[in-house]
Amino acid sequence: MRNELENLCEAAASFHARGYAFGSTGNLSVTDGERVWVTPTGASLRRLTVDRLAEIDREGKPLNGNKASKEYPFHLAAYRNSFSGARALVHLHSTWTVALSCLEDLDAAEPLPVFTPYYLMRVAPLAVIPYLRPGSAELAVAVGEAARAHDCILMRNHGFLTLGATMDEAVDRAEELEETAKLFFLLRNEKLRYLTGAERSEIQQVFGRKK
Ligand SMILES: [Zn+2]
Repeated sequence: MRNELENLCEAAASFHARGYAFGSTGNLSVTDGERVWVTPTGASLRRLTVDRLAEIDREGKPLNGNKASKEYPFHLAAYRNSFSGARALVHLHSTWTVALSCLEDLDAAEPLPVFTPYYLMRVAPLAVIPYLRPGSAELAVAVGEAARAHDCILMRNHGFLTLGATMDEAVDRAEELEETAKLFFLLRNEKLRYLTGAERSEIQQVFGRKK
């Protein structure tokens, strides 16, 4: 587990260095199936170390002296229900995805168009859940429900979370989502070619991630 905790701290610093996380926003966690290690409350992701991570059980009971991010309830809900048996979670308030989450006419069925095969392989289908207060039990319930069928979840007027079998996989998905949201805004007024239905089916057949 030690490696995954170090991966978590490295990913956190990298997100901060690249502007995906700022101030004390964003929280990450990993689990071994019984215990969960979450980034601490009120801390910047810039310079975390393994000994500063909060360790909790699957009910949220503290197992060490560090206090978990106040958003930890949705981490637990996601792990409890994850259809893919996820063991790592990235939650960010990164700019382009938050911008997407604030659009009044967001299409909940397909919030981002399929520009590239990589979005299809790593992110789609992206779930959309309504705005619910950060840290609330209601938000945890909504995340838990979405995790029954999704590894990537957009939270209206808030941010997103991605799940993965490993921290590397959750990070990959987070980066793909943020960059695709950026593309969406860059290309908003352009005449575009999207992947066709046949091209999408081919990706799904060859890479087979989508249910
Ligand atoms: Zn948040």
